[in-house]
Amino acid sequence: MKTPDILLTPGPTPLPPQVREALARPIIHHRTAHYRAIFKRTLQGMQTVMQTAQPVCCLTSSGTGAMEAAVVNLLAPGDEAIVVLGGKFGERWQELCQAYAIRAVTVPVTYGDAADPAQVGAALKAHPSAKAVFATLCETSTGVVHDIRAIAQLTRKSQAVLVVDAISGLLADECHTDAWGIDVLVSGSQKGLMLPPGLAFISVNERAWALMERATTSRYYYDLRVARKALADDDTPFTPAVAIVVALDEALKLILGTGVAQRLEHNGQIARGTRAAVEAMGLSLFAKRPSNGVTAVKVPQGVDGKKLAALMYERSGVMVAGGQGEMAGKIIRFAHMGYITAEDLCAGLTALEEALRALNHPVPAGEGVRAAQAIFGARLSAGPAPKGGARVPS
Ligand SMILES: *Cc1c(COP(=O)(O)O)cnc(C)c1O
Repeated sequence: MKTPDILLTPGPTPLPPQVREALARPIIHHRTAHYRAIFKRTLQGMQTVMQTAQPVCCLTSSGTGAMEAAVVNLLAPGDEAIVVLGGKFGERWQELCQAYAIRAVTVPVTYGDAADPAQVGAALKAHPSAKAVFATLCETSTGVVHDIRAIAQLTRKSQAVLVVDAISGLLADECHTDAWGIDVLVSGSQKGLMLPPGLAFISVNERAWALMERATTSRYYYDLRVARKALADDDTPFTPAVAIVVALDEALKLILGTGVAQRLEHNGQIARGTRAAVEAMGLSLFAKRPSNGVTAVKVPQGVDGKKLAALMYERSGVMVAGGQGEMAGKIIRFAHMGYITAEDLCAGLTALEEALRALNHPVPAGEGVRAAQAIFGARLSAGPAPKGGARVPS
């Protein structure tokens, strides 16, 4: 398979040249002052990105590893937890609870809808012994951003801790971890952070640490008590993914150089432009409360969604994500995370238009890109990126 020219998938996402350069450097040893200084700096940067003053643990795993760490450190078999569904990733929380014999009280959410916070409140009232609420910021499988702020307001009034999967939502959708009262925030490296897969992050506040000290689930690799102890020496209990941590240092220079607010603004703009384009093409959005991290587009009636995505790649070198599980063939998804730019999305929208036409579903020529450009505006007039140079979304 050839390398996709334009990767518009919600993870992995494209890597900036500075990150690729860092990944090409000779490996360094992790039990050195040099590495510890980098590690310390990156975790401080992650606190800024995750908008928390709480310690952030860095795990060597994909994002799901940090989700599992949250479950095994907070709960014990037989405990009760509330799980907000609504897509593949909400369901992952449910599956993790099942794997560890946690009694999951589910808040059902129709795919494409956002969770009704009042329903979470009702579940908390009906299950006062629930120790945790598991929710998702951006439900990547449907393109929905859940109202975490409202869910946090309700959770704060209960004894339960709020655990949020922000693996795809971090740096794309607003997420004020401390200010909103999110107790545990989970993320991963391969989405908004512009890194390869392989690192996961988890921030834990005092309320959640207290629960972690008492929880009795067996755990070893994901024992956050051990990870927290090692943090005092800017260390990890096991060999970290040294090369990705070094690359994270570069990614954070880019992210913090422009600032988190600016990143969110950039993501919002390219997401709004994409949504406008979809509507101008006569297509519809799948998400009722769309995330700025990913846009899910309904595949029009009579078009084979799997063929559509395959054709976009074959003809234009644009790789988008299809639907997962029961959504397979029904939606295609454009990511807006990390290093993805307005130019990339214009190419993606053109690819979509051409592939639809090839599948006998004509859409008005150029209307999508025109609508997007009206919103992308200044981003495009800044001109193309210098060849081989830094193409940093500003
Ligand atoms: C990508 C993603 C994950 C899974 O991450 P892995 O790195 O594949 O383990 C979990 N939750 C959400 C919302 C995601 O987008």
